Amino acid sequence: MLDYHMHVENYYPFGRTPDSRPDGTDPMDTMRRFAASAAEHGVREIAITEHVYHFVQARDIVDRPWSDEKCFYDMDEYVDLLQSARREGLPIKTGIEMDYIEGREPVIERIVDGYPWDFVLGSVHWIGDWGFDLASMADEWDRRSVDQAYRDYFRLLGQAVQTGCFDSMSHPDLIKVMGHMPEGDISDLYETFAEQVSGQEGLCVEISSAGFRKPVGRIYPERPLLEACARRGISITTASDAHVVEDIGRDFDRVRTLAESCGYGEAMSFDGRRATPVPIA
Ligand SMILES: [Zn+2]
Ligand SMILES: [Zn+2]
Repeated sequence: MLDYHMHVENYYPFGRTPDSRPDGTDPMDTMRRFAASAAEHGVREIAITEHVYHFVQARDIVDRPWSDEKCFYDMDEYVDLLQSARREGLPIKTGIEMDYIEGREPVIERIVDGYPWDFVLGSVHWIGDWGFDLASMADEWDRRSVDQAYRDYFRLLGQAVQTGCFDSMSHPDLIKVMGHMPEGDISDLYETFAEQVSGQEGLCVEISSAGFRKPVGRIYPERPLLEACARRGISITTASDAHVVEDIGRDFDRVRTLAESCGYGEAMSFDGRRATPVPIA
């Protein structure tokens, strides 16, 4: 299988803090470590998709006090390393996990168009100034209507889809991350989302095992959401959203089961943002 969503931040080879740039180590060792773990977990190809808020060139996208101290990576250096890994024969694609923030579309577009990405994920992690998936902002859930949070989230997700900037929409129902389930029927939100995705040629949705490692303890997305996508012929990408190498390919048996039960026999591989189907096996 393919794992098209993971992070290198816990091993960042150019330094995990702004002034911790290591000397004398080969950054390619980190890439070899990722490739080795993929092979060990039966994953034939990976896309490293670091969070965009780490990069100084993209500072204006997330632009929250929360991300200030995390923003010190150089995007050229990152892209060069991933491309060198590929040239060395490692099955690593050059990706980015782009935050969608309302009003920041011009910067998003500039970053998406300005670098030689293989694969670009589109994510909604913020409703205004509320990072709803952050443990440090979890109190806010007590002050909000869950149903309204779902509606706000899916409105932003739809806007993200309509930028036309992305190859796959990550963890499409991330809003459930902390385990808050809506009281009312939200099938209209799923249908609208699937309709919006189907309007963007080639845009995929992600199946992610990361939810099993979060308070919600469920796969992303819920089956009715994936069924709404399958009915419209929307393709999928498969993902662990690993933040440690041990999680690459984690719970992919359950990813495969959900995909197959909705009629999917293939997931997409990307190269220079062009998709090729690969059998799920
Ligand atoms: Zn994410
Ligand atoms: Zn991620």
